[in-house]
Amino acid sequence: MYIGRFAPSPTGPLHFGSLLAALASFLDARHHQGKWLLRIEDIDPPRSVPAAIHRIPETLSAFGLEWDGEISHQSNHHLRYETALHQLQENQCCYYCTCSRKMVAQRHAGVGYDRFCRTQQHTGGAVRFISSNAELIWHDAIQGKRTHAPASIEDFLLRRRDALWAYHLAVVVDDAAAGITHVVRGYDLIDETAKQILLQQALHYQTPSYAHIPIVTTTNGQKLSKQNLAKPLDLSCVSEQIAAALAFLGHPLPESLLRAAPQAQLRWATEHWSMERIPKRAAMAWPGV
Ligand SMILES: [Zn+2]
Repeated sequence: MYIGRFAPSPTGPLHFGSLLAALASFLDARHHQGKWLLRIEDIDPPRSVPAAIHRIPETLSAFGLEWDGEISHQSNHHLRYETALHQLQENQCCYYCTCSRKMVAQRHAGVGYDRFCRTQQHTGGAVRFISSNAELIWHDAIQGKRTHAPASIEDFLLRRRDALWAYHLAVVVDDAAAGITHVVRGYDLIDETAKQILLQQALHYQTPSYAHIPIVTTTNGQKLSKQNLAKPLDLSCVSEQIAAALAFLGHPLPESLLRAAPQAQLRWATEHWSMERIPKRAAMAWPGV
């Protein structure tokens, strides 16, 4: 059974980049007669915008992207994250870290965390995962073989110093709890996948299949994001935006469907969907987004 998902953070309204990830994950699931779940990643209260939590499902519905089952919210999942962290602690897969960003920067000029606290035996602080020293190789359904050199994956955070759950732990635990078999998302997360695979292995979870679609940039090369105020999706011209998103994903609609109802456009795209047609690119510029 194929189970896919779309998992936006409610930090603002959905934009064209979000539509690409939603559409690609939806179409891949529907093409395989699978389920498509919606999970709101609201575990970072300072960054979550309450209005966005309600607006995301409304926007998806307006685009004909109907999910299966109940919407899940990460803010309800503290207990399962706690249980997973406890399991990692029992198995000595993590350690406490008391470093500030400044302390790490003063010790070394390299990128990321220098593993200093691995040998410090602290009894509190942030919690970091002990990344493997081995080479990691995995296969992306669009981008192909990915290789991570030995010791190149940072000891990433599981829980932050302010006790907020870190992204990787929440995502990996939720994907496993929902039985997610296929993850389709933006290329900006491709290097994070290695960390999630290591975490799945430490927790004895199945690793889903991963596919990373190119991210969209403005014509001057800037990544679209809520932070740089990408234009919100416009509910007054849904069909035009679906047509543009499908063209970006290598599935241009036939002329007769360019202004059809979203449901008719999605039916065509579900039938014709193929990962082979998605450009093997990290990013592509798109005019008018
Ligand atoms: Zn440290």
